Parts: sequence; C-alpha cells; structure tokens
Amino acid sequence: ELTSRDLKDYFHLIVNMVEEEKDYLCELDRKIGDGDHGVTMSIGWQAVNEKLVNELVDEEDPAKISLVVGKTFLSAVGSSVGPLYATGFMRGAKTLKNKNTLHDNDLTAYWVAFANGIKERGQAEVGDKTMVDTLEPFAESLTSQFADTQDFLTAFQIAVNDAKKGMESTKKLISKKGRSSRLGERSVGAQDPGATSVYFILATFLSFIE
Ligand code: ADP
Ligand code: MG
Ligand code: MG
Repeated sequence: ELTSRDLKDYFHLIVNMVEEEKDYLCELDRKIGDGDHGVTMSIGWQAVNEKLVNELVDEEDPAKISLVVGKTFLSAVGSSVGPLYATGFMRGAKTLKNKNTLHDNDLTAYWVAFANGIKERGQAEVGDKTMVDTLEPFAESLTSQFADTQDFLTAFQIAVNDAKKGMESTKKLISKKGRSSRLGERSVGAQDPGATSVYFILATFLSFIE
C-alpha cells in the first residue's frame, strides 16, 4: 500500500530519471522527429519538481497530487506529449478521489486509467508507432494479471515486461501519428521516443515498489 508521501517520492524519481535519459530521448527523436523529446520531458518534469518542493510539500491527497502533476505538465509543455501525459495523470487522479492510502486495486485502476486516458486523448491505435504501443499491452496485461492473481506487484511486473515488448515493437513500425508520420517508410528502424519515455515511467514505478 502506498501513501501520498510515496506517490510524491515516485514523482521525484521520475524527475531524476528524465534528467538521466534526456540525451537518449532526444537522440531517438532526432532519428524520426525534431529531436526535442528529452528536452520536452525535462521541461515538464522540472516544472513538476518545482510544485513537489513548494505547493505540494504538505499535500496529503494522492488525487490532488496526481492532478497537479498533470496540470503542471500541460502548462509547461508545448509539444505533442504535453496534453497526452497531462491527460494520463489527470485521468489517473480521478480514480484516487477520497483515498488516503492506495491499495492494490487502487493502483491497478490508476495505471489503467492513465493508459486509457492517453490512448483516448491521442486517438492512436497499436501499430501507429506511438506511446500507445507501450501502453495498450501494458494495460491489458495489468488488468488480466491482476484479475488472476489479485497481487499488484506480480501483475505490474508482468505488465511492465509486456510494455517493454510493446516499446521494442515500435522499431519495425511505420509511423502513422504525430510528426514522424511525415517520414512514412523512412520511420522504420527507429524506436519511438514517446513509447520509450512512457516505458521508463512505468519501469521507474516498478523499481520503486519492488
Ligand atoms: P513533438 O513531436 O511535438 O516534438 P515530442 O517529441 O515531445 O513531441 O513527442 C513525440 C512523441 O509523441 C512520439 O514519439 C509519440 O510517441 C508521441 N505521440 C505523438 N502523437 C501521438 C498521438 N496522437 N498519440 C499518442 N502518442 C503520440
Ligand atoms: Mg519531438
Ligand atoms: Mg517538438
């Protein structure tokens, strides 16, 4: 079970992870986009960090914390992923309403809402070479594994493994959404930056709870 303090600690870990992966994410985006994905993520998460150390320091409501993260990301980030990640964290926030501590079923609902929110906002399908190629297999796996085991950690471990396969599957795909879709066939061979950053966000949560 997770507290509001744990949730904030996790968001701090994302801030650090994004700084570490910034250059790699830009390098991926240089191959099929405009090369800014790492910078975009850094701008967004540095803005979130500013909230974590000020406005959210004494905040004890997990729903409020996730809502502020989403809203902050939206106002700080101009590129495609701004509204996508913002929607994910805001939809997730809705599932946490009136909960002080988060149990296995709450965490499952949170991450499924996060994934579905991004899919709905971007209107991308599996195979379009986007974040959805990581998120849809992740959410399907988490839902079915949690239904089977009733154990969040086990289900999340399996789901992150499926997310990784989804991320890697983007290498062979032709981009159908966003900036990289202009490249058509020339987008084949490169791993999608957004599929990669969202995998890192999920993998960071796994390492936090393990
Ligand atoms: P921009 O393309 O505006 O520079 P970023 O470089 O920050 O934005 O992010 C690019 C990533 O956004 C892509 O790698 C892709 O995963 C994701 N993306 C773009 N459009 C969509 C969409 N409609 N649905 C889901 N993800 C998308
Ligand atoms: Mg870009
Ligand atoms: Mg850009």
